Amino acid sequence: MQHYYFIHRKSLLFIIILCIMATIEQAQAQVPKPPKMVPEMTEFWEPVPKVVEPGKAAQNAAMTAPSDAVILFDGKDLSKWESVEGGAAQWVVNNGVFTVKKGTGDIVTKQEFNDFQLHIEWSIPADITGKSQARGNSGIFMQGIYELQVLDSYNNQTYVNGQAGSIYKQSPPLVNAMRKPGEWNVYDVIYTAPRFKENGSLFSPARITVLHNGVVIQNDTQIKGHTPYIGLPEYTQHGKGPIRLQDHGDPSEPISYRNIWIREL
Ligand code: MG
Repeated sequence: MQHYYFIHRKSLLFIIILCIMATIEQAQAQVPKPPKMVPEMTEFWEPVPKVVEPGKAAQNAAMTAPSDAVILFDGKDLSKWESVEGGAAQWVVNNGVFTVKKGTGDIVTKQEFNDFQLHIEWSIPADITGKSQARGNSGIFMQGIYELQVLDSYNNQTYVNGQAGSIYKQSPPLVNAMRKPGEWNVYDVIYTAPRFKENGSLFSPARITVLHNGVVIQNDTQIKGHTPYIGLPEYTQHGKGPIRLQDHGDPSEPISYRNIWIREL
C-alpha cells in the first residue's frame, strides 16, 4: 500500500511539472512580439522647425582655421582622407572644394578623435533636383558612427528628425537655418564622445552642440546611440573614431565640401 502511494506521488509530481511547463509556454505565447521595425516608425514630421534666415556671408570667403587646428581639407587634396572601403578617397577635388563621387563610398579621416570642435562647410548644387531625403543627402558622422544630417532643407519637406542639422532619426534641429542651393552652409560642431564602463556598457552618452551658419541648432543634445535608417539607436563600446562623410545612394546631384578643420578637446 505504501509502495503504491509512493508511485502515485511521483506520478502526481510529474503531472504538476507538466502543467507548470504548459502554463509557462502558454504565457510566453501570449506575450505580444514587438512589431518588425520599418523606416517610418522612426520618422517624425512635426513640429516643423521654424525657418531662420542666417546672417550673410561673403560667399567665397571661407573663414580660416585657428592656429592649433588640424586641417582636414585645405582645398588642395584628400590626403587626410581615405575610402571607408579601403584605399584612397575617390571624391573629386576641384577649385578648392571636393565633391562626392557617387558610388565610390563614404570617406573617413585617417586620424581618429574623441572630443572635438569641428568646422565644416558644405554646398548643395544650385541645380539640385529630387525631394525629401533624395535631395542633396550626405552626412557627417561623429567618430564614424553618429550622423549629423546634411541635406537640402531649403523649401524641402521631409521628416524633421531627418532634415539638415538633425541628429539623424533622433533630434530635429531647433530651427532651420539653411542657405539656398548654390550657397555655402557652415556647421560648427562641439562634440563630446560617449564614455563606456570597463564591462562595455554605456557610462555616459555622446553630446553635441551644432551651429548652422552661426545659429544654434543643437544645444548640448544627448545622442541616443547610432543613427540607423531602420531601427532604434543603440550604443556599442568604441574608442576614438574618424570623421566620416556620407556618399548617399540618392540620385540627386552630388554635394560639395570645403574648409574642414578640427580641434581636439
Ligand atoms: Mg544622410
